[in-house]
Amino acid sequence: MATPLITMLKAGLPAVAGLVSALIAICALAGWALGIGYLTSVVPGLPTMVPMTALLTLLACASLWRLRETGGGRANVAAALLTAASLVILLAHATGIPLPFVVRGSAAGARSLASPVTALMFGALGAGLLAMGRPRHVRHGQVLALGVLLLALLTLAGYVFRDTFLYQLLPGKGTSILTTTTLILLSTAVLALRPNEGIMVALAGPDPGAWIARRLLLSALTMPVLLGMAVAVMLRVKAIDVPTAIAFLVWGMVVLFTVAVWRFALMLYRIEVARRLAELERQAALESLREADANKDDFVALLAHELRNPLAPIRAAAELLRIQNGADPAQLRRTADIIARQTDHIAHLVDDLLDASRVRRGLITLTRVPVDLHRAVCDAVEQVKPLVAQRRHALQVELGKVHPSVLGDHKRLVQVVANLIGNAAKYTPEGGAIRVEMRMAPDSVEVSVADNGIGIDAALLPRVFDSFMQATRTAGRADGGLGLGLALVRHLVELHEGRVEAHSAGAGQGSTFIVTLPLLQN
Ligand code: ADP
Repeated sequence: MATPLITMLKAGLPAVAGLVSALIAICALAGWALGIGYLTSVVPGLPTMVPMTALLTLLACASLWRLRETGGGRANVAAALLTAASLVILLAHATGIPLPFVVRGSAAGARSLASPVTALMFGALGAGLLAMGRPRHVRHGQVLALGVLLLALLTLAGYVFRDTFLYQLLPGKGTSILTTTTLILLSTAVLALRPNEGIMVALAGPDPGAWIARRLLLSALTMPVLLGMAVAVMLRVKAIDVPTAIAFLVWGMVVLFTVAVWRFALMLYRIEVARRLAELERQAALESLREADANKDDFVALLAHELRNPLAPIRAAAELLRIQNGADPAQLRRTADIIARQTDHIAHLVDDLLDASRVRRGLITLTRVPVDLHRAVCDAVEQVKPLVAQRRHALQVELGKVHPSVLGDHKRLVQVVANLIGNAAKYTPEGGAIRVEMRMAPDSVEVSVADNGIGIDAALLPRVFDSFMQATRTAGRADGGLGLGLALVRHLVELHEGRVEAHSAGAGQGSTFIVTLPLLQN
């Protein structure tokens, strides 16, 4: 996964660092050609970037550019030349063998041989660039670049703190501030070339470890430098003596690192807590997915049974028709009725299924026109009358004389009410009582369907409108449904900007479903 940091490092940093370094080298060469001291050393008197070093810099830039363009895996002549030239300079320093055109010692000006420290750093940079071109050696290339960066920072420290003791230890000191800057830029560019490979994954990755490492590194790079600068200033103005400076430096480092370690330990702790919470959430989500999966499996089994049940009577009826040669018309009608009833049942199941899938995909749309709710409820009552009659229920319909208008889809509103009355008929033992009422409120109208049937358990009540939710899920129940009806009812009512509630005092206590719809304002 590409984080913004990785994208930024890959895209911008190597190019910018390479271009700035090349510019510095070209300015230095121009400075030598035109005799402008500022261009060769920033402040005349300080060590200069000699032409040889400027050429080494340009070789490093060319090699970096090639690596950026090709992405590695190709010959990098510039990097090979850089490494070889640096080795020759180091050999010349070590053996004292003279080289053509150049002279040892900084007094030689434009013809000076680059210092051993500079040659060492460019040699390591060249080898690093060569290694970066080979996928298996990216890590080595980065380690070399990191070494160069740290060494360049040491020479920079020499400038910041004016000839530190450590810097004095370096052989042939005198690396120019310009050379130091280009080496810092170029080694950083090499590190930024492949941010998601080798040792850089520890820093540039999107994981919390890399995030903390980035911040820790920033603290490690800045805090000691700032503290050191403060102590150096105090020493220079003679505000403190050397033992006090050392004591102050040590104490300061202890304080700074304690604070840093504490801060990062706290960050780690918070990350760990968040991780654990996320893990718990993931577990819960997994659990509910498993439950849903098991529910779906149950549902598929139930669906198979529900679709298969009507087939047996249809097959028997077909058989009957085949053997009934010239049978009496009453028998024929009864057989045809069986086939019609069972195919209606299958069609009803398939309609429910299709509607449920349309709901899931958000494909149900309403034709929104003013609807006479009184008429819609009457149509629904008509639709379920056969079932109510078959189960010998007493159906009482109290709609009053009002004809409230709601904005919506007549067909879907009939479906909602018919579904509720159908459920009341299914879940009430034969010979029960069902009451359908309509009540007006100032801004809305309520339709309630109450029965004195099996009622709904308190545990099921809050989930009764969820898909596949049934009190008893047994295939081939006499009432035969898929547990989708109420989910569809709720969805349709919500599409009408209304709400539906289920009430029941418990098992055996009957149930009441109330649909509330907003009135169409004239
Ligand atoms: P189905 O009727 O196909 O099972 P529904 O979504 O219409 O699916 O109903 C879901 C469940 O809610 C039913 O299985 C039943 O347990 C319960 N239920 C619905 N209406 C009633 C009612 N009037 N009385 C008792 N229980 C009901």
